[in-house]
Amino acid sequence: MFIYPEKRRSRKHPTETGSSPYYHRSDCLICRKQDGQGHEEAPPPGGYIVEGKQFLVEHAPLKLSNAGTVIVESRRHLLDFGEMTSAESAELGSILKRLVAALKITTGAHRIYFLALMERVPHFHLWLVPKKKQGSLRGVAYLARRPVPASSSAAEAISREIRRRIERS
Ligand SMILES: [Zn+2]
Repeated sequence: MFIYPEKRRSRKHPTETGSSPYYHRSDCLICRKQDGQGHEEAPPPGGYIVEGKQFLVEHAPLKLSNAGTVIVESRRHLLDFGEMTSAESAELGSILKRLVAALKITTGAHRIYFLALMERVPHFHLWLVPKKKQGSLRGVAYLARRPVPASSSAAEAISREIRRRIERS
């Protein structure tokens, strides 16, 4: 797809905020939340589970998730895997390896579902949804169901436990 350089520059340049190398954007919900400026997004229950150089991991918003559903998000404003630097790809791989193992043990899930659409907010964020063996719904039908909202205390406890396992791994 061809993008006019002028248009691209005028759309991007004035909205970049924060210090290098994060290149946050003032019109992005996730960038504003990371900078502590978002009003729409509450802080993650239990705090960040992982604070990497390039990525953060937090519990998913309570209304939208069962306890144990977590979100991995880039610190830098980027859309998807194709825009990551080698350092970002390497750190993401390393975080996912430890996080998936910790999530499975902590939640008793036999699968971890991955979901990254970036339709509502064009900033890389990957949902990790633990799925237990029991239950009739599977696959996309499971993801599309209305989740039982997580309680704040359950989300905090599970976040603590995941953090503890990752730090030991
Ligand atoms: Zn952003």
